[in-house]
Amino acid sequence: MKTKKFCLTEAQMPTQWYNIVADMPNRPLPPLHPATKQPVTKEQMSAIFADALIDQEMSVERYIDIPEEVQEIYRIWRPTPLVRATGLERALDTPARIYFKNESVSPAGSHKPNTAVPQAYYNRKQGIRRLTTETGAGQWGASIAFAAKHFGLELQVFMVRVSYDQKPYRRLMMQTWGAACSPSPSTLTASGRAALERDPHCSGSLGLAISEAVEMALQHPEDTRYCLGSVLNHVLLHQTVIGQEAVAQMEMAEADPDVVIGCFGGGSNFAGLSFPFLRRKFAEGRDLRVVAVEPASCPKLTRGSFQYDFGDVAGYTPLIPMYTLGHEFQPSDIHAGGLRYHGAGAIVSQLLRDGIIEAQSVPQTETLAAGILFAKTEGIIPAPESTHAIAAAIREAQRAKEEGSPRTILFNLSGNGVNDLSAYEQYLAGTLRDYAPGDAEIRRTVDLLEKII
Ligand SMILES: *Cc1c(COP(=O)(O)O)cnc(C)c1O
Repeated sequence: MKTKKFCLTEAQMPTQWYNIVADMPNRPLPPLHPATKQPVTKEQMSAIFADALIDQEMSVERYIDIPEEVQEIYRIWRPTPLVRATGLERALDTPARIYFKNESVSPAGSHKPNTAVPQAYYNRKQGIRRLTTETGAGQWGASIAFAAKHFGLELQVFMVRVSYDQKPYRRLMMQTWGAACSPSPSTLTASGRAALERDPHCSGSLGLAISEAVEMALQHPEDTRYCLGSVLNHVLLHQTVIGQEAVAQMEMAEADPDVVIGCFGGGSNFAGLSFPFLRRKFAEGRDLRVVAVEPASCPKLTRGSFQYDFGDVAGYTPLIPMYTLGHEFQPSDIHAGGLRYHGAGAIVSQLLRDGIIEAQSVPQTETLAAGILFAKTEGIIPAPESTHAIAAAIREAQRAKEEGSPRTILFNLSGNGVNDLSAYEQYLAGTLRDYAPGDAEIRRTVDLLEKII
């Protein structure tokens, strides 16, 4: 009998996060203050983020303890299963073995609660009473709403007006968990009120929602902080529970991955799965390919430029050394909302620059076709973001067949798609189109960046 699912006990869950910075041959360049172009100080960041998170952001310690209070909430859904995709293997008639780590089983339906929980915990511990954040399609807003509730924190989410109106389900998840979710622009902040004065019917943007969330945190330094669901080092760090579990589960499966694959928005689910495997590459010299998969419509890793750029579209964050399309790049309106991000985190960018990881881009019709095949063969309807990892895994399995050489493939199922069925609706209706920006379109927003390196 072929074992399908590899499950750890709660006692086997990791008790530390893995910080890859300790093992990188070249550490990422420091984040810079936009005005002075000097490395940002802890003091400058502490008005926005909780102190413990800033320490983690800058840490070079290899392992950082996961507080018991965080582990206790992780146990609501962790450890997550590692599954052998036997149905998909059969459908592809491939000699490859395909495994996936199922992060779609969390209460919010994605990997994002892995960082939402510790972020809420450290803020609470510092005596912060309220968190602010922005959300586009709502995955991050829902995850932090779930986490904030557990630690008795208030949460103010600014949700881009169009999504607020068109995508009610995650808004309702946030409200069910007790968060305040306001359409952005709102009347709660000066930047929101100014936008509404200019245009009372303004449909909002992610940049504006960030401005509102940061403004509210800066105006209440005594009890309010802002939080972010991807890109930053501490977010990637928290996600390494995924890969540490997967390393143990692949051992249970008596399998060693030749390729580890993750879809790529800002880099957190990709890093979470792959970094603990890269640890073995650094420490034991294991041979391993690690592949980040981005949409062809938002190709910062495969076609972007390595430069200092803002982490957010509004220009509030420090300047981060990253592969970027420029923070003013407007990604086309693809369904994988979580992958519509202009840049990549500093650590992942450095790893790509050093050739330690590789990147691929996939057009969205191919990803949704892969998602549908996965749903039919493995049962789970994947998030549109996750279908990028599935498409790359399928390409790899097909190559194994052509070359007649078996291999072991592991990918991250970062979330389920039950709240994103409109993407499937369009694909099934045949109205979904592929889009890739032209070189001139990319050059325009990259050329707007001030050259620092
Ligand atoms: C947010 C999201 C992503 C993209 O973010 P990363 O930080 O790159 O992981 C991918 N998949 C799902 C399901 C998401 O919600």
